[in-house]
Amino acid sequence: MEKDIRSLDYSEIQEEMERLGEKEFRGRQIYQWLHEKMKDTPREMTNLPEKLRNTLCTQYACSDLEIVDVLESKADGTRKYLFRLGDGNVIESVLMKYHHGNSVCISSQAGCRMGCRFCASTLGGLTRNLLPGEMLDQVYKISKHTGERVSNLVLMGTGEPLDNYENVVKFIRMLSDEHGLHISQRNITVSTCGIVPGIYRLAEEGLQITLALSLHASTQEKRRELMPIANKYALPEVMEACRVYFQKTGRRMTFEYSLVGGVNDSGEDAERLAKLLEDRNCHVNLIPVNPISERDFVPPNRQAAADFKRKLEKYGINVTIRREMGRDIGGACGQLRKSYLDRTGGKGED
Ligand code: SAH
Repeated sequence: MEKDIRSLDYSEIQEEMERLGEKEFRGRQIYQWLHEKMKDTPREMTNLPEKLRNTLCTQYACSDLEIVDVLESKADGTRKYLFRLGDGNVIESVLMKYHHGNSVCISSQAGCRMGCRFCASTLGGLTRNLLPGEMLDQVYKISKHTGERVSNLVLMGTGEPLDNYENVVKFIRMLSDEHGLHISQRNITVSTCGIVPGIYRLAEEGLQITLALSLHASTQEKRRELMPIANKYALPEVMEACRVYFQKTGRRMTFEYSLVGGVNDSGEDAERLAKLLEDRNCHVNLIPVNPISERDFVPPNRQAAADFKRKLEKYGINVTIRREMGRDIGGACGQLRKSYLDRTGGKGED
């Protein structure tokens, strides 16, 4: 397969130009076209000699996602994008508009192999990892489509970021590179289901990002029922890895807790969660589960969610209930992609 030119970082593209016998500044120009001006193909790089443009077009691939569908929520302006990758696979991303700016939620893999019970992204398994260029282009295409700057990024779409470790870390460095969109690492959140070696490794990268752990249960037994990954990395190990992550990076972690009615939303669940998080400088994000048709999980009623939150607050825990955005357009992880694949018989083509 040809090298994806959009996945080369600032120094790699310069080395590549050197290898081709081109002047050093060509690398800088190309990087600027791809990552600052967010152009789709080398054909648009008008300050390059035609010969070089042709070389780039023939000898390299260039991630260029095609917008297949855009759904806009009438309730809150959230937009869901369905993109087709170069090989025909489809992925989804979401744009959420907040007072503090635009936040984009991207996919890190086509499909997922983690098997969390309530999650639609994992139902068809993992198809493949996304390249850094394919993650970047989700942001670029959305930014161009809306004509607005993206200020925050969350890796909470389809896929497990730490199961595609190298590409994800490279993507983060490129997204925050001053020669590209230069999005502050403090505005980037990586969410993981709890791959322990990945958490330790990430702690050593010197990144200023926020790490979010999908906790969803306060005991190993309950967590295992919801998240198969807990069979591999037990709750105490994950919590220890998070402690080390905070010590090493000084970055306050987020714990995500999807509230499932009658499963993990009782008063005892809240008390246990509070104990588990005692003495940690962290933030808890409660997400009323977004039901998917393949499972019979239901969200808690409003009262139960509010009680759960109040219990945690009583213990001094910093907690928010995530606003349900885009519920009317299939808000939860992987739902748009899944309905598209169902409609097209899994081939990803209309
Ligand atoms: N693989 C990463 C990112 C996935 S999605 C992870 O596991 O963290 C981001 C969050 O949404 C995770 O906490 C995930 O568990 C949660 N999630 C997925 N499907 C959901 C649903 N139907 N309802 C509520 N939360 C869901």
